[in-house]
Amino acid sequence: MQFIDQAEIEVQAGSGGDGMVAFRREKYVPAGGPAGGNGGAGGSIYLKAVENLQTLLDFRYARIFKAKDGQRGGPKNMTGASADDLYIEVPCGTVVYEIETDEIIGDLVTPGQTLLVAQGGKGGLGNRHFLSNRNRAPENALPGLPGEERAIRLELKLLAEVGIIGLPNAGKSTLISALSAARPKIADYPFTTLIPNLGVVRKPTGDGTVFADIPGLIEGAHLGSGLGHDFLRHIERTRLLLHLIDVTAEDPIAAYETIQGELEAYDRGLPDRPQIIGINKIDALPPDSTLPHELAEELHQRSGCPVFIVSAVSGSGLEDMLQTVWDMLDEIKAAEAIEVEEPRIETEFVCQEL
Ligand code: GDP
Ligand code: MG
Repeated sequence: MQFIDQAEIEVQAGSGGDGMVAFRREKYVPAGGPAGGNGGAGGSIYLKAVENLQTLLDFRYARIFKAKDGQRGGPKNMTGASADDLYIEVPCGTVVYEIETDEIIGDLVTPGQTLLVAQGGKGGLGNRHFLSNRNRAPENALPGLPGEERAIRLELKLLAEVGIIGLPNAGKSTLISALSAARPKIADYPFTTLIPNLGVVRKPTGDGTVFADIPGLIEGAHLGSGLGHDFLRHIERTRLLLHLIDVTAEDPIAAYETIQGELEAYDRGLPDRPQIIGINKIDALPPDSTLPHELAEELHQRSGCPVFIVSAVSGSGLEDMLQTVWDMLDEIKAAEAIEVEEPRIETEFVCQEL
């Protein structure tokens, strides 16, 4: 499934340092010539594509980026120090727009690629520069030029790596809100009635992974009941399924089998997609109930998948379940890296904002 993550940031390059007005003052030289140095250049701002980021999550917290100003020129013809350029790391695939014009400034595709987004100001000329035959003692110098300032929008197509499945009422939406640090914008989505709930869940390593709550999975989904067929088509592109079961349901095993049956009827690799099972709503049972563990045992027997007993509401068990999600994703990616890269068919949808 593909979604658009967006972030708007402001970049302010550094100003150039002012040129200096100064004269040489040396012993025994009555009237020294002009000796004011030029100002140093202000720092520019670049975006840089890096491999280890997958989302724009970090830009929700840091929105204004400033490079330092250049230093002013010094006496004795000393040029002021130029400020360092600032490199802002973004994920590969980030497209950059200027907000004011809505024009694309550029896109960052390959790791290491850079894009200048705000040019640092030039340093001003010192009075030494204005020395001429006519003017032996110029008293003027130029100020440094301001750095470029721009408001830019970053856009990134996101891939939902984890699909949360389960019957209606299993707690999928509740889980995604409990886990996620941010909601990306869903762009170009065709289903106006049922919009998948998306969240970016922050990994312990800092970056995020997109979780999609797949609604509309009901019995007969593979035949097109509800919007099931479309959703099944889209979960084909997730790497891992998180299967939620409501422990308070009349027959939780049957709930599991219903969803599993839909995946099998649809096939296309979905029944074999790595899965983690979460037995949810544990908080709704008395603490001494043996039901969750019996169910866990039974579901593990049937599926061979890791099973966790959790509560999306109280948060219990979620941390362990998430850790397994990260571990399995790492394994899946390691295995994918070995396989020959098959071209992935990218689909985009038309849609509205959450
Ligand atoms: P979805 O249809 O799978 O998205 O399910 P929802 O997230 O909308 O949840 C359905 C109902 O179950 C809501 O009333 C939730 O408040 C409730 N629910 C979800 N998770 C839990 C849980 O962990 N404990 C309890 N007690 N209720 C839950
Ligand atoms: Mg829901």
